[in-house]
Amino acid sequence: MTLVVMFGPPGAGKGTQAKILAEGTGYLHVSTGDILREAVAAETEFGLLAKEYMSRGELVPDNIVNGTVKEKLKTEAEASGLIFDGFPRNCDQAVEFDKMLAATGIKIDMVINIDVETSLLLRRLTGRRVCRTCQTTYHVDNLAGKEKCVCGGDLVQRRDDNAEVIEQRLKVYVEQTEPLIKYYTGKGLLKNIDGNGSVGNIASAIKELIG
Ligand code: AMP
Repeated sequence: MTLVVMFGPPGAGKGTQAKILAEGTGYLHVSTGDILREAVAAETEFGLLAKEYMSRGELVPDNIVNGTVKEKLKTEAEASGLIFDGFPRNCDQAVEFDKMLAATGIKIDMVINIDVETSLLLRRLTGRRVCRTCQTTYHVDNLAGKEKCVCGGDLVQRRDDNAEVIEQRLKVYVEQTEPLIKYYTGKGLLKNIDGNGSVGNIASAIKELIG
């Protein structure tokens, strides 16, 4: 099985790129953010707990997230590839991930670090709109007045895409997530991609990396 980790700050385009890569390769896109948002919408016990942290822009406790990832590795053991988006997000999760993978015999092939300037991250996050039905993301600048997704679903703003929470999410990224760059560089797994360009150009660069 091929295992790719899509890495980068909020607004880097991890989800968009993971989706494009999944479509091109047949690998499964595993977004812990999407899994958590589904749990929040379904009002499950862990969804209700996660909601508190997510609405503040903080990380949901490791035991909750690690549990969902462990479950995914079990249920998707037959997949040709997995693309993790939004996990791991701190050092403890990365160490736990390594343990889970060692137990299943799967190895991380590549960690793709999508590097984007902070001013651009802010523009992307504040202008982001998401389809309520299929989770496709758009930016208000490219909508030209359209109010619906190509699938017909309503476009909404994520609850955590407001200035105050964005600031907190970026802070959490710098303090807790960014140190993983060193962790994966040390393992020889990190590949840097310039994420300041267009979606298409970034997707082509990633495709080239994957080969
Ligand atoms: P994302 O969709 O990846 O931007 O994630 C949205 C929110 O879900 C984050 O701000 C966190 O509150 C939570 N979340 C997603 N992935 C993780 C993770 N690996 N660990 C902890 N919290 C997470």
